[in-house]
Amino acid sequence: TQASKETADHIFVSKLPSISIANHLPLHTYCFQNLSQFADRQCLISGNNGKSYSFADTHLICRKVAAGLTKLGISKGDVIMVLLQNCAEFVFSFIGASMIGAVTTTANPFCTSKEIFKQFNASRSRLIVTQSQYVDKLRDTGDDSVVFGEDFAVVTIDAPPEGCLDFSVLCEADEADAPDVEIDPNDAVALPFSSGTTGLPKGVILTHKSLITSIAQQVDGENPNLYLKPDDVVLCVLPLFHIYSLNSVLLCSLRAGAGVLLMQKFEIGSLLELIQKHRVSVAAVVPPLVLALAKNPLVDSFDLSSIRLVLSGAAPLGKELEAALLSRLPQAVFGQGYGMTEAGPVLSMSPLFAKQPLPTKSGSCGNVVRNAELKVIDPETGCSLPRTQPGEICIRGPQIMKGYLNDAEATARTIDVDGWLHTGDIGFVDEDDDIFIVDRVKELIKFKGFQVPPAELEALLISHSQISDAAVVPQKDEAAGEVPVAFVVPAAGCELTEEAVKEFISKQVVFYKRLHKVFFVHAIPKSPSGKILRKDLRAKLAAPSST
Ligand code: ATP
Ligand code: MG
Repeated sequence: TQASKETADHIFVSKLPSISIANHLPLHTYCFQNLSQFADRQCLISGNNGKSYSFADTHLICRKVAAGLTKLGISKGDVIMVLLQNCAEFVFSFIGASMIGAVTTTANPFCTSKEIFKQFNASRSRLIVTQSQYVDKLRDTGDDSVVFGEDFAVVTIDAPPEGCLDFSVLCEADEADAPDVEIDPNDAVALPFSSGTTGLPKGVILTHKSLITSIAQQVDGENPNLYLKPDDVVLCVLPLFHIYSLNSVLLCSLRAGAGVLLMQKFEIGSLLELIQKHRVSVAAVVPPLVLALAKNPLVDSFDLSSIRLVLSGAAPLGKELEAALLSRLPQAVFGQGYGMTEAGPVLSMSPLFAKQPLPTKSGSCGNVVRNAELKVIDPETGCSLPRTQPGEICIRGPQIMKGYLNDAEATARTIDVDGWLHTGDIGFVDEDDDIFIVDRVKELIKFKGFQVPPAELEALLISHSQISDAAVVPQKDEAAGEVPVAFVVPAAGCELTEEAVKEFISKQVVFYKRLHKVFFVHAIPKSPSGKILRKDLRAKLAAPSST
């Protein structure tokens, strides 16, 4: 029966006590709930021009934007698209929309016109907030029934090109004109898209309740799991259109009263300069950024001593790279979070970031967040597995998505009838509740009967002093089915041979994980959210004129 199956489940919960979460509120009310405690402190700092907004300024401008959106005909339940690099207007638009019960879909400004309109149509957006440089991509909608400037308005945060409106129509509206709306906790507030690492990006419906729960799981309670303080300056270089940065960087900082340093895009020199200048104390990063901080010689010429905490997430990161980073930032605490857009997004977080920290191990993604349940199942049988046994990670709690956008079937495949969200990631929980991600189910290489996680080989490869980056993918093989092959970026000025790389690995792994081929390349393709695009490399291998 159902009951006996549930009791037989191995379910893991946080070591931190459950807390009461104000997830009956609308998201913006919750985020600014403690505003009076830090109204005059810096909230948003723009990295490229130094302009800053206090919490009180930020709150007021968001309210003006709420009124401005209303004037442009946006009302409760409508969707706006934010197509911006990180900037203050991103925040004003997102929170302003929330204030009138509208929904924001966040899009990558580097997408092509076709990709943008796919998302625009899927989300039934009514308005786009963007920068003038992207407007040309919006003129041809690819559909005669959707006409630029007629069927949707385009607002630019800089000088508006023809047919566009200036952002002042939003931010200079009278805040008193914003309507009072009733918001249900289960109403959507954000429609982020997944990264598209394994296939096409999927639209994800996140509600006020799911986002509040996720933020609270991180920064609320007497002993917050991710302790952010009003004197912190949190680095926001990861794109806000991706849920990691939107949630764990922006929304968590708003709630906790920490300042957010907004950087439009990643460039190592200006990043280091800004960290030094603004005394950044919390750095939210992804493995490619950790790689740059650990390996780039420029790092030595900057004072990064203000950094007290480095949070890495979005993709696997091995102990070797963690150690390399810490040798350069000895004063910092390093830990990982594990997230997935559909999960709201955070599933686990390093307990080292808590106000009263708890120990965890290098290479782990920490422990499951509080007020949630996690289990590991056998992908074949669906049965839950005990500690130390790897299987598919599943999560349950009020923070997970409502469902995929316009795809009930995919939703039903992902969230089962008992409310468990199946992540597609393989991992295990060890004796001390520490979670380790092995790799995605879809990315495991199958050598005869054996499974080879590419992430493990990649971590070893980048620990080599003469390798600056690497990726591992399967290649079809008659005898073995699949064999692991590597793409390697040699460090500048290094002459590395295929044999040397193969030997470096074979000395450290069991026979079936050995590399069968090494291709030297100039760069590894990665998504803006920091993931290796192994599908692109697999396609490269399959192409007739392979590498
Ligand atoms: P798509 O689902 O569109 O193919 P995606 O899964 O990369 O893309 P996201 O939701 O941005 O889109 O990423 C979630 C995935 O990122 C997780 O399922 C997991 O594979 C990976 N991930 C996130 N954090 C970590 C981490 N700390 N360690 C290992 N993998 C991680
Ligand atoms: Mg995914």
